[in-house]
Amino acid sequence: MSLNISTPHSKQNIIRDLAIEAEQARNPNLSGADLSNTINRIKQLLEAQNAVLVAHYYVDAALQDLAEETDGFVGDSLEMARFGLNSEADTVIVAGVRFMGETAKILSPEKRVLMIETRAECSLDLACPADEFNQFCDRHPDRTVVVYANTSAEVKARADWVATSSIALDLVKHLADNGEKILWAPDKFLGAYVQKESGADMVLWQGSCIVHEDFKATALQALKQHLPDARVLVHPESPGPVIALADVVGSTTQIINAARDMEADTFIVATERGIFHKMQQAAPGKTFIAAPNAGEGAMCESCAECPWMKMNDLPRLEQTLETGSNEILIDEDIRAQAARSITRMVEFNAAR
Ligand code: SF4
Repeated sequence: MSLNISTPHSKQNIIRDLAIEAEQARNPNLSGADLSNTINRIKQLLEAQNAVLVAHYYVDAALQDLAEETDGFVGDSLEMARFGLNSEADTVIVAGVRFMGETAKILSPEKRVLMIETRAECSLDLACPADEFNQFCDRHPDRTVVVYANTSAEVKARADWVATSSIALDLVKHLADNGEKILWAPDKFLGAYVQKESGADMVLWQGSCIVHEDFKATALQALKQHLPDARVLVHPESPGPVIALADVVGSTTQIINAARDMEADTFIVATERGIFHKMQQAAPGKTFIAAPNAGEGAMCESCAECPWMKMNDLPRLEQTLETGSNEILIDEDIRAQAARSITRMVEFNAAR
């Protein structure tokens, strides 16, 4: 689809048109008219079911825009769950990956929580099966168990604390200051970063994110030399040598805020590239370049896309709403235990 720049177009419409174009690229069998019909039908279904769409920064721009247009929400995993909790909607539809749907259900058990796509997993969650994790915890009974949000409800239920990337460092510092030794799971890179910065006594589960682990420090260094005025924003799921090159290390929300608030015009970004949509909205006119993940000499070459996040799309959302399928259900004992470790994190965050 080409845009006629002589036609008055609001910026929002242009962004929407580009998002539809991207959606068509993913769904070549859908015409522009079909996509418009799909979006209109989704809006009708959301309203009729008193449902709200909550989307992660990493999903397609079309879903992010639709969430905001329909009084839903776009944010990181904890913000998504909090929004679902506070919303008066009867149904929360999660555009993200499975652990996000589970977190929403853990915090809002009385609500119906649907996933757009239940096969949308996360490599960190998959790398930490509950039975193996329980054995790991049993081998370290003297340690406080802190797990990243990217885990199953069962793993959260075993934990003393849940942590997001925005809070992990402060939380572990707090626990270490109280003399506690930490068992951290599942992300080895985030764990190593927290261990290095906090000096805490930690044992680490050896999971990783398939997107962030691919960022390459040598190629990033070369890109920095090529763009000396650019600032480097890195998510701490990335390898240590990549984190070492960052001007800012932070969660998705912290990275977006840094792009908005820093004076630089150009940013090299080491996280899933779906975030660029929100960064461009938060900091219009600035330039965002995906950090390289294809090795030395691969200047600017990066896919940086999560295959599971990209399973979320408009036709699947319409189908979920039409059928009421993909509901998240969690055993009540597991849910209540997981809620306890999440609530401790929320209260710690509120008291900071
Ligand atoms: S980008 Fe990485 S951490 Fe995020 S959902 Fe995908 S695999 Fe998991």
